[in-house]
Amino acid sequence: MTEETRSDELPKTSPDPALSAGRDGKINVAMISLCGCWGCTLSFLDMDERILPLLTTVTIHRSSLTDIKRITERCAIGFIEGGVANEDNIETLRHFRENCDVLISVGACAVWGGVPAMRNVFELKDCLAEAYLDSPTAVPGAERVVPSHPDIPRITTKVHPCHEVVEMDYFIPGCPPDADAIFTVLDDLIHGRPVRLPRSLNHYD
Ligand code: SF4
Repeated sequence: MTEETRSDELPKTSPDPALSAGRDGKINVAMISLCGCWGCTLSFLDMDERILPLLTTVTIHRSSLTDIKRITERCAIGFIEGGVANEDNIETLRHFRENCDVLISVGACAVWGGVPAMRNVFELKDCLAEAYLDSPTAVPGAERVVPSHPDIPRITTKVHPCHEVVEMDYFIPGCPPDADAIFTVLDDLIHGRPVRLPRSLNHYD
């Protein structure tokens, strides 16, 4: 394989998931946001009018917009925005892995942790203290406590990229990735083609 070929292919970790997504009839696609800013979801929407013809072949079973974190019908393709920063993120990611044939990390947060991973250079207790105990925006005189409740997911010690929790099949870098990049990957998978992301659409900013 030449250097040029390598740079034009998305990293792939499973045998050939692209083929499993190429099938007759409509396929279910799901997207969910973990620890991110939803900018990647907006990039998905930036496919604009190309979304409409897609709907003849794709059913959007789950979307970050509704934020429903459980899948009730098997999905061919799952897009994951955001990294893993709490126990709820871990459960959701594992559930998507179990229920999606092909799972894709979308954006810097999902690929390597992104902006939330900036806290990884600090101790978690120091981050919580900065946010809740020593915050310069805290109301003077108000009680300062770190929130704790059984309904609040426990924060992980570090922020993790998705592939450190489950196997991911493809990675679309960028913060956020171009809508064209998301469309290219989705279109290849829908039509059962090997996924190739042109270098022109592959960026890391
Ligand atoms: S990669 Fe960038 S745009 Fe996407 S969720 Fe993370 S911070 Fe937001």
